[in-house]
Amino acid sequence: MAELLKGKAVADAIKGEVAARVEALKARGITPKLGIVRVGARPDDLFYEGGAKKTCDAVGLAYEVFEFPADVAQDTLEKAMQEVAANREIHGILMFSPLPQHLNEKKIRALIPVEKDVDCMTLAGAGKVFADDQTGFPPCTPTACMEILKYYNVALKGKRVVVVGRSLVVGKPVAMLLLREHATVTICHSRTENLPAVCAEADLLVAAIGRAKMIDSKYVKPGQIVIDVGINEDPDQPGKYCGDVDFASVEPIVARITPVPGGVGSVTTAVLCKQTVAACELQHS
Ligand code: NDP
Repeated sequence: MAELLKGKAVADAIKGEVAARVEALKARGITPKLGIVRVGARPDDLFYEGGAKKTCDAVGLAYEVFEFPADVAQDTLEKAMQEVAANREIHGILMFSPLPQHLNEKKIRALIPVEKDVDCMTLAGAGKVFADDQTGFPPCTPTACMEILKYYNVALKGKRVVVVGRSLVVGKPVAMLLLREHATVTICHSRTENLPAVCAEADLLVAAIGRAKMIDSKYVKPGQIVIDVGINEDPDQPGKYCGDVDFASVEPIVARITPVPGGVGSVTTAVLCKQTVAACELQHS
């Protein structure tokens, strides 16, 4: 039976640390604040926003939501983003993506100042992450994976890690963060040959695919650690969600595994708050 690497304990530890840093900033007369930019009202965005607000409240972080209708004009949104960017009281910006199709998202993202880019929406932010520049903030989900590994003392130096998925939101940045910790990283994707065999060679397997329960017993080996980033509708249980890993098939084989729900996803808003506080500290250093 595998040990469950649950996210709640990790999120609680991060929140405790962030609350202390918020208090220290407030003692200097500075209130760290997150600006949330949302266009439309997609249920997934509203769900994440609700979680982010709750975590902000728990750690004493201020926030403000800038909400726009789904048919907002490009110039209106650009002007609003410029104002949020220039607002000295806002230290971090979260913008929900993708934006509706009529908008030029690249142009809007580029308006986020890199020092406020706490979820790595800009190319400059991504550049910092890939260049190991610690003043840049990786996207919250890959950072959540790293926080889980750190909290549960998973050794990474010299270990073989396989990441399945090469998106700019999860796969590529998590690979860079693992490399930073001296892991030997292989990045796989939809064209990788012999994927089950490649995955089964890893000490640590990170699944960031977007395919419900794809990683089954063929992809793993005894002793392995599995981080499941996936959030998918569960094909077997309507209304519930599941990971990219077939938990029932994999859990009896591997040593440690993150559950879904209750794993990576439950750490991301704590990371968002931590990165906003770090941005605030840097802006006031
Ligand atoms: P993307 O769709 O952007 O990327 C998926 C990646 O998986 C691609 O690189 C793709 O390869 C690869 N892939 C797809 N099918 C296969 C396959 N059959 N075999 C091997 N590789 C495959 O997804 P994201 O990176 O945005 O998200 C990945 C997962 O993480 C999703 O389930 C998403 O819901 C979840 N997620 C969870 C978050 C959290 O907070 N827990 C936050 C963000 C995402 P290729 O490049 O060749 O197409």
